[in-house]
Amino acid sequence: MEIRFHGRGGQGGVTCAKLVAAVYAKQGKSVQAFGDYAGERSGAPVRAYTRVSDETVTNRNKVYEPDHILILDPTLLNEQAVSGLAEGGLLLLNTTERPEHYREQFPGFRVATVDATDIARRHGIGTRTVVIVNTTMAGAFARLMGVPLDDLTGVFEELGMKPANVLASSEAYESVQALGEDQLFTRPAAGLDPILRPEVLDLVDHKVGAPVPLKTGSWRVQTPRYATMPAPCNAHCPAGNDVVGFLQALVKDDLDEAARLLSETTPLAAVCGRVCPAFCMMGCNRREHDAAVNIRALERWVGDHRDVSKMATRASANGKHVAIVGSGPAGLSAAYHLARAGYRVSLFEAEAELGGVLRTGIPVYRLPREVLDRELQGILDLGVEAHCNEPIDRGRLQNLMNECDVVIVATGLQKLRGLEVPGANLPGVEQGIRFLHRTNFRGPGALSGHVVVLGGGNTAMDCARNALRCGAEKVTVAYRRTREEMPAIQEEIVEALEEGVEFLFQVAPVGFEGEARLQAVRLAEVEMGEPDESGRRSPVTSNRVQSLACDLVLLALGQSGDSRILDDSWSVFGGRAYAGDQALNLFGTGDLFTSEGTVVHAIGHGRHVALEARAAMGEPVSAAVRLDPSVSVQPEQILVEHFPYSPQVHEELLDATARARSLEEVNRGLEDASEAQRCFSCGHCTSCDSCLVYCPEGIIFRDGSAYKVDYDYCKGCGLCVTECPRHSMEMVAS
Ligand code: FAD
Repeated sequence: MEIRFHGRGGQGGVTCAKLVAAVYAKQGKSVQAFGDYAGERSGAPVRAYTRVSDETVTNRNKVYEPDHILILDPTLLNEQAVSGLAEGGLLLLNTTERPEHYREQFPGFRVATVDATDIARRHGIGTRTVVIVNTTMAGAFARLMGVPLDDLTGVFEELGMKPANVLASSEAYESVQALGEDQLFTRPAAGLDPILRPEVLDLVDHKVGAPVPLKTGSWRVQTPRYATMPAPCNAHCPAGNDVVGFLQALVKDDLDEAARLLSETTPLAAVCGRVCPAFCMMGCNRREHDAAVNIRALERWVGDHRDVSKMATRASANGKHVAIVGSGPAGLSAAYHLARAGYRVSLFEAEAELGGVLRTGIPVYRLPREVLDRELQGILDLGVEAHCNEPIDRGRLQNLMNECDVVIVATGLQKLRGLEVPGANLPGVEQGIRFLHRTNFRGPGALSGHVVVLGGGNTAMDCARNALRCGAEKVTVAYRRTREEMPAIQEEIVEALEEGVEFLFQVAPVGFEGEARLQAVRLAEVEMGEPDESGRRSPVTSNRVQSLACDLVLLALGQSGDSRILDDSWSVFGGRAYAGDQALNLFGTGDLFTSEGTVVHAIGHGRHVALEARAAMGEPVSAAVRLDPSVSVQPEQILVEHFPYSPQVHEELLDATARARSLEEVNRGLEDASEAQRCFSCGHCTSCDSCLVYCPEGIIFRDGSAYKVDYDYCKGCGLCVTECPRHSMEMVAS
């Protein structure tokens, strides 16, 4: 008698085969039991065999035509599983179904069923998830073969098996069902069914047959799949840059590809690589491991080594004309994307030169003008027509709306917040923005004495550091909240401190002293009150006031939009202006319409509005969708143990004492782009081979730079997905 056992590849099948053999051996039969280590895996057996004979078994060959088959797991039952089963052979299934269920599927066989998983689980054999059914199945088989139960349980006891196995096999012995009573073998075990009796071959005789076509892929209930998941750096970038893409291009030493990827979303990589608060780095999963990848510095690296705008694809002219008012980063970004898409773009700027705050506000030691000019030239080279010294008022705007297909307003924040306290009009109290504008256009000028800057944002930091460079002996920043609450870019605060700027926190100006000119600022201590609508605690001014002697006060208290250019009856939703319900050919972008207040947000919104405008002009494009950081790859989804600790590569900075009196660029940039190697490449496959190496079946293969899974043999164990270090694989329902 030859019996084949089908298991999922653990030890269950082969153990069951051995138990059955042991029972017959005890009855004085010659037996043989062995496992079949199928060709698709190198691990445990997926099939096992038992031979039983009255004569000495000498056969060495495999079993090709079994008399009986035991299937230990319901998922293994398919047409292939019964291949070679002799006509009238017994098919014993571990299943919740009754044998009748299989009458049509397996008409030639004697089908019997037992819910071995349930029985074994109830007897606590194995674990809740991995139930061990070999003894239970042996019990059912013994009944079908007419083996007395005592013979079976006696063997279990001799082998020292736990009582639960005896109980479970006894239950199976009683509960196994077969198709009709006549199908049950009730003969005593002594005599094997002569019809089913196979020949016993001599040692050297060989019986050949086709191997069982066992494609273990048919067991799969879940399928591994390579997938690109949103990386947090991409999701956090307001410009929509493909950060992980350009970093991985740098890893491959492909600077052109890095620049090309950036050119899809930004014309200002060298600028942003210098002034961006780097939201991408705040979201970088590497922060949880050692330190964020220095993405901002790498963007600058690309922008400094390639003219990013020149890498951009360009459509041919489509004859449509767009006017853009305001040439800050938002207007420039909109102009760039529209020019690339084939539009004629006219850019109107009130100042003498293009750039908005990039030129009027941000000082040269942070953003050298040759860097700004080079990237501006890249935009102009796309055919953008610049009209400087052309302030647009409401009437002129209406004319542009009549003359052009679309008008985009990107005029930034032009209203400066003042102070209504005694002495605010004294000479020596000046708006910081005006001070920066003056020094940026006319050079540092000459300051002396003590300069006090009121505020805690980027304008305050720029005023303070610029004042030092203009000759101030001492500079103090007075801010009404705490250091942690300062909205300025953190690096700017640190650099200002290094340069000798002093800080007073939780003080608010309540007046200025002086006769013909400012002599001191009166600062009241501030207590922190209840949180306001921004969630920050509101400063409450106390009556504990001190005078701080000074020669110049620079106000950096914030700006707001001046929307007088727009008709009072218009409203703007989602970047587009409406007169009542009627959509106008007017769009708005940048700080005037968003409250986001950074260069990178302005760049992102400029692109968004360019797409909106194109759609309004009839192009089949849809607006850029900002990825949701909460659905990007999370730190715990990265297998950090695959990535050795390595410190962030910093840019070189000029010595603090020397730079505080110089207009030279403080940040000298990276020496090379090796920092990109630290990128985890979250959610993006790098062909690291982990999936291939960890696959226990050995059925994942390289396919060029990607991978191919042999799904005929993939059992869906999911190890490749679990072991993917960067979460660029997932399991999906089969
Ligand atoms: P703007 O840059 O303000 O540009 C608007 C343009 O429109 C200006 O050129 C203006 O002259 C022009 N304009 C206005 N009215 C008219 C008109 N009627 N006709 C024609 N032209 C007109 N953000 C960062 O991310 N990093 C920083 O380091 C940083 N530092 C900053 C430092 C300072 C001093 C300031 C003030 C801001 C800083 N910001 C920084 C914020 C950032 O600069 C702005 O968020 C960004 O410039 C907004 O871009 P925008 O295009 O909307 O407007």
